[in-house]
Amino acid sequence: MLFSEFNFHHDLLEGIEASNYETATPVQEQVIPPIMAGRDIIASAQTGTGKTAAFLLPVINQLLQNHVDGQVGALIIVPTRELAIQISQHLEGLSYFTHLSSIAIYGGNDAQNFVAEKKALQMGADIIVCTPGRMIAHLNMGYVNLKGLRFLILDEADRMLDMGFMDDINRIIKTLPHKRQNLLFSATMPEKIRQLAKKILHEPVEINIAISKPPEKIVQKAFVVYEQQKLPLIKKLLKETKYKNVLVFCSRKQTVKQLTRELKHGEVKVAEIHSDLQQAERENALNAFTSGRIPVLIATDILSRGIDIDSIDVVINYDVPGDGEDYVHRIGRTARAEADGTAFTLIGEKEQNKFALIEKLLDKEVEKALVPQELGPVPQYKPRQKSADNRKPFHRFHRQHQYKRKK
Ligand code: AMP
Repeated sequence: MLFSEFNFHHDLLEGIEASNYETATPVQEQVIPPIMAGRDIIASAQTGTGKTAAFLLPVINQLLQNHVDGQVGALIIVPTRELAIQISQHLEGLSYFTHLSSIAIYGGNDAQNFVAEKKALQMGADIIVCTPGRMIAHLNMGYVNLKGLRFLILDEADRMLDMGFMDDINRIIKTLPHKRQNLLFSATMPEKIRQLAKKILHEPVEINIAISKPPEKIVQKAFVVYEQQKLPLIKKLLKETKYKNVLVFCSRKQTVKQLTRELKHGEVKVAEIHSDLQQAERENALNAFTSGRIPVLIATDILSRGIDIDSIDVVINYDVPGDGEDYVHRIGRTARAEADGTAFTLIGEKEQNKFALIEKLLDKEVEKALVPQELGPVPQYKPRQKSADNRKPFHRFHRQHQYKRKK
């Protein structure tokens, strides 16, 4: 479907053209018309599907058609600063030829930013992208004016609940006018999200974009090892990849810190990203990596979603991610756009069953690569097939019981 068929404002069409979008993605085709018709939406769609533009475009369009000065028109709540920055960059591109104003409000200690945010919240900005904690900090000061709000958008809602933002979100919602349009986007739909949806959405249109499988062009390999073999193996892998744009994922921030320390002792230049770092430190690390100054970035799943970094050659899962969706998200950081990519996963002895479930979801056995002999004998790959086979086929709505994400 062409964007010209949506009946968008011509200033917005110019921004779409400048962004080089030609046809709408499936999620955009399904989501844009009901939003333009004024309906609430609950959509399960992941990063990479074009979901950000799916809500930004109709919201920008409606605010352009019916512009009200001096009010906040749309509030987009997201789990992380990185995602807030990315969405606001997206927003700037798409709304470049319009007169709409927008601001991203996220944590950090910059007093100057706080003043600008305060001003936007008092005087109105058409679209605000925020993280919950920072928004609460402003709400506590008593000057926030959201009376004219027309759109509330919750993006990556499952992640926000996992990160413990439920109370903050409820507090923010209490300050909003009752009559508004609500759009909820979530990669998965555990029961907690359904409850939240029931509470805040009004007769929503439900849209499911099937779980994306990793692109075929990603070469996937796994190494079956003992836990203590992971460190020597990753050192070897990094050497073989010539340290070229490698993103390493660890499920826990402790592991990120430890691995960063270990690798810093060697010849590899590494940066780290996890939730214990200040915003400026995280941004510096990301910039150093994306600009090519630091070839290896070690991160928690904070970076597995929502972040669009081009030219990552290799993704290494230092441990097996919690579930299939995390796996797809992590390895999907490589082979973006036209590029090829490789994803290695290090499977410790206790992680074999977890990995077998992921293979089931992918409907594919990932090649088990030979571990270099000098690392000594390795365990056999023998996941407990029985329990894996007995499980229901993977389905996003059926896995609340196992839905626990690690930080
Ligand atoms: P998202 O799923 O929102 O993170 O988007 C993933 C990437 O797709 C971003 O880099 C977008 O700029 C890009 N994108 C979104 N919609 C389109 C489209 N209709 N055509 C081409 N690229 C798009």
